[in-house]
Amino acid sequence: MAARLIDGRQLAAETRAEIARGVAALKAQSGVTPGLAVILVGDNPASVSYVTAKEKACREAGMLSREIRLPASVTEDDLVAEIGRLNADPSIHGILVQLPLPKGISEKRIIYAIAPEKDVDGFTPVNVGKMLIGDDCFLPCTPHGIIKLIEIAGMDLAGKHAVVIGRSNIVGKPVAALLSRKSANATVTLCHTGTRDLAAFTRTADVVVVAAGRPRTLTGDMLKPGAVVIDVGVNRVPDAAHPKGYRLCGDADFESCAAVASAITPVPGGVGPMTITMLLWNTLESARRMAD
Ligand code: NAP
Repeated sequence: MAARLIDGRQLAAETRAEIARGVAALKAQSGVTPGLAVILVGDNPASVSYVTAKEKACREAGMLSREIRLPASVTEDDLVAEIGRLNADPSIHGILVQLPLPKGISEKRIIYAIAPEKDVDGFTPVNVGKMLIGDDCFLPCTPHGIIKLIEIAGMDLAGKHAVVIGRSNIVGKPVAALLSRKSANATVTLCHTGTRDLAAFTRTADVVVVAAGRPRTLTGDMLKPGAVVIDVGVNRVPDAAHPKGYRLCGDADFESCAAVASAITPVPGGVGPMTITMLLWNTLESARRMAD
């Protein structure tokens, strides 16, 4: 393996220590404890494990964590009413609704119900719009974490070609927007399933962010030597040798990409820990704003 590992766990630990100091300082100065409410609808195993990890991280940072578990049968109106109560609750500074929601519930209506000033996921139209025009806002957590990981990989993005694979609202599109901001100054190509000859784009990329949700979307032969690879994918692949019966892998074929890239994020241990970290970051920032 030629590539250096971009250690998301290490960066997350350092950033969380900084957040914990910020939480302690806010408590001491104004008596305010940042509070995050996490709404989980149904019992999707991946969602349960994400929510558990978020709560643990919250408590470790000294924040208040409130979990609201609702059955998959909850109505859209009841869910909107729950969000309304949290919007009005002064002890809650951040609201997160774990996605995906069960079929029949409009994610759009639910996300739109979150007050923008408590939207620590950065998913509401107000925050997305502010991000696009470069206004002060909560940046979406996974894209924000990705920018931090590229920074520690030592890449100065200015003038570089960045290829983003995937155009979802929660990863691909916001990553492309952040990379193309003047502060980053990369030239960005956004690829998707309608892209003809994906490899022709990735082979000219200095950095590739792959968020396709499919293993082996990116392989080493698709990379320019020395490229930086940020692998966002989290895929469960059956593995009888593993106690859980599956193992996690990303969207990049790790072995072949690591042989060509200069730096690469592992899965797990890359983007995932930074996503939760930036959620805590935004929750602390929200509490600071409300305490002012
Ligand atoms: P998504 O909503 O399913 O979007 C996937 C995107 O990838 C779509 O835009 C799709 O194109 C594109 N795509 C799929 N296969 C492709 C291919 N072969 N070539 C080019 N483009 C392709 O997924 P998402 O929510 O963005 O998540 C992507 C992955 O990241 C998933 O594995 C998810 O679990 C993971 N994730 C991880 C974190 C974390 O914190 N680590 C956070 C969020 C997501 P079309 O638009 O044309 O269909």
